[in-house]
Amino acid sequence: MPHTPFDVDLASEAIADVIDDVVVIGTGISGALVAHALMASGRAVTMLDRRPPMTGSTLASTALLQFEIDLPLHRLARSVGWPAATRAYRRSVRAVQDLTSLVHHERIRCAFGARESLYLAGDAYGARALAAEVEARERAGVPGTLLSAAALRARYGIARSGAIVSTGSAAANPAQLTAGLLRRIVARGGRILSDVNVTGVESGASGVELTTANGPRVFANQVVFCTGYEVPTLVPAREHRIHSTWAVASAPNAVFPAWLARTVLWEASDPYLYLRTTADGRLLAGGRDEDASSAYTVAHRLAVKTRAIREDVRALLPNVRFRVSHAWGGAFGESTTALPLIDRLPGTRHTWVVAGFGGNGITYSMIAAQVIAAALQGARDPDAGLFMLP
Ligand SMILES: Cc1cc2nc3c(=O)[nH]c(=O)nc-3n(C[C@H](O)[C@H](O)[C@H](O)COP(=O)(O)OP(=O)(O)OC[C@H]3O[C@@H](n4cnc5c(N)ncnc54)[C@H](O)[C@@H]3O)c2cc1C
Repeated sequence: MPHTPFDVDLASEAIADVIDDVVVIGTGISGALVAHALMASGRAVTMLDRRPPMTGSTLASTALLQFEIDLPLHRLARSVGWPAATRAYRRSVRAVQDLTSLVHHERIRCAFGARESLYLAGDAYGARALAAEVEARERAGVPGTLLSAAALRARYGIARSGAIVSTGSAAANPAQLTAGLLRRIVARGGRILSDVNVTGVESGASGVELTTANGPRVFANQVVFCTGYEVPTLVPAREHRIHSTWAVASAPNAVFPAWLARTVLWEASDPYLYLRTTADGRLLAGGRDEDASSAYTVAHRLAVKTRAIREDVRALLPNVRFRVSHAWGGAFGESTTALPLIDRLPGTRHTWVVAGFGGNGITYSMIAAQVIAAALQGARDPDAGLFMLP
């Protein structure tokens, strides 16, 4: 039985050779959503991970579940064109709705709740850019209302040149959400094997053979890599960059205004700050990214970043009172388009890769589950082309 910090009762089997219809590599939120969707469409699934379940970046996530992509719609349109940008935004809106329905349908207890999103003008996008963004969203039918500086101050007590407030976001406990999905996968006959490090992939005309460092030979009709920011080396590195990011959680019973309990807040600044609260009254805040992929592993950076995030919160919301009880860092990916990668590995027919880059990585995991489930049923998701390698 694998040990997880959540004491999740997941099946783990003695490691023998694995032969199954579909093998999903990675037991974070992407692997869980993909495996769940595949099983719902009638596929038999085995999940492999070199670690215990949910101990990748899913555990580090602050789980603001947003349709808003790191690039505002009007900027995304400049890089991928208006039709693709509007489709990506609309698809993200739908993904948060679909994730909400899934959690309710499966009765997963994960502190899931709807949130409004408050996007503050900053040094990356000021009030004029936010006005252009709201205009673009109106044209695309995507939620978002512009707040003037005066309205922002009156409603939220925040001094900035403007903001966009929108409905359609959510928040959840990411570990409980993933554990809930994994439990249902196991209950419906799926298998989860930990301590299996996949080191090679041989994709043939009719299936895939995986090499593992420490155990079984693995044969499958289809393989899906949901390995998070540990992107398989077969994916061209020019398509993505891995950074470091940091987050803090306060002790319960932090003192904050009532609106913060129903809002996820983030800012259009570099460095940026984002925050939300939890049902037990904790404040979760993060940001202060650095370009280096391994900076988060350097112990003294954690203390520096913790202080910086705490000061960022105090500068923005001086009346909030909190004591940091946990702080951590993690790897965080960005793609050149701000869209995720959901595609076959180059040169293969039966090997897929899901890399949900961006601040809304979990929303992208939901889209990936839908795109992959459709593809493995022989259908093509109408938005699949948005997320493919060029
Ligand atoms: C501090 C922080 C805050 C974040 N906040 C948010 C947020 O607010 N909202 C949001 O949507 N997203 C957020 N994200 C991003 C989000 O957490 C990720 O997009 C998401 O967790 C990725 O999930 P995953 O399942 O793809 O990857 P992971 O959870 O990393 O899982 C990948 C798994 O694959 C396994 N694996 C890797 N390589 C191999 C191999 N070769 N063989 C076997 N197993 C392998 C790993 O052991 C791991 O368990 C945040 C990330 C960080 C670090």
